[in-house]
Amino acid sequence: MGSNTFPVNPEASVGADLHVREDLARLARMAARTLDAAAAGVCVGPPERPSLLVNVGSLSVGDALLVPFLCQADRQQAPLLVADVRKDERFAQGERHALRMAMVYPLFNGTGERLGFLWALSQTPRAFEAGDREALDDLAGFARLALREWRDPSFIDRAEQALFSFMQGLASDPNGDHHPLQARFLAEVLAMDGVLIAEFADPARQRMRTVARFCRGEILPEVEFAVAGTPIEPLLVNGAQTWKQEVWRLFPGVSALLEGAEACVATPLRNAAGEVYGVLMALRTSPLEEVTLVEALLPVVAAGIEARYKARRAEQELRIREATIRSVYEHATDLIFILDRNWRYINVNPAYARALGRPIEGIIGQPSGYDLPPHVLERVLETNARILETGQPTVYDTTMEFPEGIRSFSVVKFPYRDQTGEIVGVIGIARDISERKALERQKSDFIKALSHEIRTPLFAIQSAVRLLTVGCCDPAAEKGRRMLAIAAHNAERLVRLTHDVLSLEGLEAGLLPIEATACDAASLLEEAAASLAGLADEAGITLDVASPVIPFEACPERIMQVLVNLVGNAIKFSHAGSRIGMEAVADGEEVRFAVRDQGRGIPSEDLYRVFDPFHQVHPRPLARGGIGLGLPISREIVRTHGGRIWVESEVGVGSTFYVALPIKTRLRLSETLAR
Ligand code: ADP
Repeated sequence: MGSNTFPVNPEASVGADLHVREDLARLARMAARTLDAAAAGVCVGPPERPSLLVNVGSLSVGDALLVPFLCQADRQQAPLLVADVRKDERFAQGERHALRMAMVYPLFNGTGERLGFLWALSQTPRAFEAGDREALDDLAGFARLALREWRDPSFIDRAEQALFSFMQGLASDPNGDHHPLQARFLAEVLAMDGVLIAEFADPARQRMRTVARFCRGEILPEVEFAVAGTPIEPLLVNGAQTWKQEVWRLFPGVSALLEGAEACVATPLRNAAGEVYGVLMALRTSPLEEVTLVEALLPVVAAGIEARYKARRAEQELRIREATIRSVYEHATDLIFILDRNWRYINVNPAYARALGRPIEGIIGQPSGYDLPPHVLERVLETNARILETGQPTVYDTTMEFPEGIRSFSVVKFPYRDQTGEIVGVIGIARDISERKALERQKSDFIKALSHEIRTPLFAIQSAVRLLTVGCCDPAAEKGRRMLAIAAHNAERLVRLTHDVLSLEGLEAGLLPIEATACDAASLLEEAAASLAGLADEAGITLDVASPVIPFEACPERIMQVLVNLVGNAIKFSHAGSRIGMEAVADGEEVRFAVRDQGRGIPSEDLYRVFDPFHQVHPRPLARGGIGLGLPISREIVRTHGGRIWVESEVGVGSTFYVALPIKTRLRLSETLAR
């Protein structure tokens, strides 16, 4: 029989691709032929509201005729074969029924999902024989295959709708983008028993943590697990995977995670850079015999989850960036201020508010610069106007007056632009360079003092040498010998000066090797006293050493240098007949030395400057030859040891210099001590 006998009823056929519909029409015709039926077809959808995909034959079949048979087949979940409708009490109208023969095959896929129905109807009764059954089984098998390709548009619509509202729900979920309900919902949409969404938990990508987990009606607690030996391993290498059955057998170590799954459809989740950051797995506790909608829908669902993940990541990064900038702004020691075009403060950082001595809220909105002196204000306004005009940044140095004094600033100013790029104000960053300026001044003072120190002995040497060379005096005569002695003395002074300057510079720059070793305070004091005994004798001064044995760690040569300098000074500035006390005590974590004299003392206004280079309080006792570097060098040595040096003094009564050093040093230990 040709196709004319069983024309495709076009208006009754919906939704299928043309080639699928042709296949289905062929199958329907074959069914009609096998059963000598007047009409046959394939429909999908619920049995009460079928959508006719194909409908062939001479009999025009409407829903009213078809529905009772579809419903019956659906109820019994098995093929319905009615040899004579009139004799079958399951159908109403009984005797008067227009139809006599009815055949309906529900078409299920491997997962038990009903794909549709293959049906045939006839106005004449017909007995079914074994051959008919076999032929119909085959036809139904083919119909199932053909239907696999077909997607019920209404189902897709519903799934899309559901996905859409799901995504919307995620977007508006303040608790983040993963909700346990998400897994439950996805399981329902995908018609699977379980869904698991997991993300990497460590940077090495060895472990994962579930972020949503649902299985067999239950929302499960989140778990962390090792990726090794799970279905996720092949997923990371090969991309999406489907295991139709016995997945637990393939991955025996993780059956708990798979929650008794037989089948598993899984796909990796990728971030904006295309790297895998997690997985989405749909699980089923019975085997998947056929490929299902799950495989088609899983990528759609994954894309939705990924989109949300990317948005969350982008938001997080933005928040982190903002927080970083804010933290820099809050913690900067530089003074940062933002002004609008009318020079009112838009914002200032805490350092700025602190410098002004006013709270931030009291500054924002206020006009800037009103408290500046007119000549400074004029320059500031001019700079600001130029920035607005040219959009170019400017840098300049300035001074400002604060309650505690004048401070120097280096200021950089640049335009403040809105999102459209329009200049709406000026941003300024002012760095306090007062310390640097002070250091620069100190350095130039040092150089001035040094040149002075060098010039005096040099001048003495020069004059002596000149007198000798022009032959004014005989080097062998008395006057000549005196000249030579002056030259030699001053040369010695210059050598000492050079040595001291270099050692001070070396100490400050950390260039001199200082290594700690085991010392004893008493021995050091004894040694210092011994080396100065001659000088003390000469001056008629008595040295009293009093110290218990106090072991500590330090560089003994350097500490000796400090003690000799302090005791030497004490001798220099004491009267004959007086005593100098040299003591050491252990005080907690420290050993504290004291050098106590009964000398002339230091006026209080000089106390804090005696440690400055070249600072000398008393008219120089030339014969004793101080150059004003002993105390600065001592201070540097003590600092390097992590200790403190200070002085207490009263004019006419005497001075006491103290040195406190840590007993356990932070210096590098010499090898002997380290052993
Ligand atoms: P110098 O002793 O070479 O002048 P120092 O740096 O050791 O240099 O000391 C700086 C100055 O501090 C001395 O010139 C002196 O005026 C004052 N000074 C130091 N030690 C004493 C002391 N024990 N008594 C009084 N003045 C002192």
